[in-house]
Amino acid sequence: LILLGLETSCDETAASVLRRSADGRVEVLSSVIASQIAAHAPYGGVVPEIAARAHVESIDAIAGQAMSEAGVIYGDLSGVAATAGPGLVGGVMVGLAFGKAVALARGLPLIAVNHLEGHAVSARLAADIPYPFLLLLVSGGHCQLLAVEGVGACKRLGSTIDDAAGEAFDKIAKSLGLPYPGGPALEKLAVGGDPTAFTLPRALLGRDGCDFSFSGLKTAAARLAETVTSETQRKDLAAAVQTAIARQLSDRTDRAMAAYAMTRGNRDLRFVVAGGVAANGAVRAKLMETAAARGFSFNAPPLIYCTDNAAMIALAGAERLALGMTDPLDAPARPRWPLDAAAALSHPTHA
Ligand code: ATP
Ligand code: MG
Ligand code: FE
Repeated sequence: LILLGLETSCDETAASVLRRSADGRVEVLSSVIASQIAAHAPYGGVVPEIAARAHVESIDAIAGQAMSEAGVIYGDLSGVAATAGPGLVGGVMVGLAFGKAVALARGLPLIAVNHLEGHAVSARLAADIPYPFLLLLVSGGHCQLLAVEGVGACKRLGSTIDDAAGEAFDKIAKSLGLPYPGGPALEKLAVGGDPTAFTLPRALLGRDGCDFSFSGLKTAAARLAETVTSETQRKDLAAAVQTAIARQLSDRTDRAMAAYAMTRGNRDLRFVVAGGVAANGAVRAKLMETAAARGFSFNAPPLIYCTDNAAMIALAGAERLALGMTDPLDAPARPRWPLDAAAALSHPTHA
């Protein structure tokens, strides 16, 4: 199968062409990402109206570039996969409408992909990771632990009760005066900082369940950021924040691993972390330790596939198409679309 994937749910206009063979081997033939960071930077965050307009302006060229870099023509495609949500609906509609147009013009099947399902399969772009696996999805808008049983079949074990981890990184970075997007900037600032120089709240640590909470940390860090004067202190605070986030992710994941291992009878213990925050070195290192201590294999996508991209959307689409799961041309854009409801919505009857 050769698929064109389209991603427009946030501030990246992305297109990718991917080949998936019958035995499941995956080859990313192209992955083009046009970031709108410069357009949103003056506002310190993503402005939905600016994002939607930028997607409209670039989708055609980005899709064309993905096709030509892959060396394929529309006649070579087996299907078109487009993000149908969740995300900023104005942007989602652009990529989804473009995908529908290609599908209609070429008589190709359309796969309306859940963006989070894209993140969920993103590690499979570069490694052969069989289902089932335990997934920590840590992105700009989500922080969840899920048992991924198969294509479009997940059970949620826990999620954040307030902010997502990426959102916490972004907001705390902002209070430290760092530019948007804050996560990568905070990671850079933290290099060489002393994480023990500040004491931060340990939300939910040692508590039952697998839920997350970052709002206490965010408030405490914002207050400390106002008192910080030297560059050394800024570095220390950044390091302390990063360590605190990594620690919470690890603590909750550890609990999920214990529960997951029980239900699996200690077999097939695979752990995957995905989403933008999975690009963070400290987070990856901490989770790698956690997985090793629990006897889980550890996988994370290559850095380029942690944040938003269309290769992961193409792969999620290819996995669905291989099972005959396609969507009608009137598939709606869904601003909200929980991943653990995705299976039932392959042929959505209500928005
Ligand atoms: P969602 O997928 O939940 O809809 P999104 O698509 O905006 O949200 P992603 O693109 O997956 O999110 O990830 C972006 C988030 O990842 C941002 O919050 C960003 O700050 C964070 N992030 C990216 N790189 C790093 C890093 N190196 N360290 C920490 N956070 C990072
Ligand atoms: Mg983004
Ligand atoms: Fe995302």
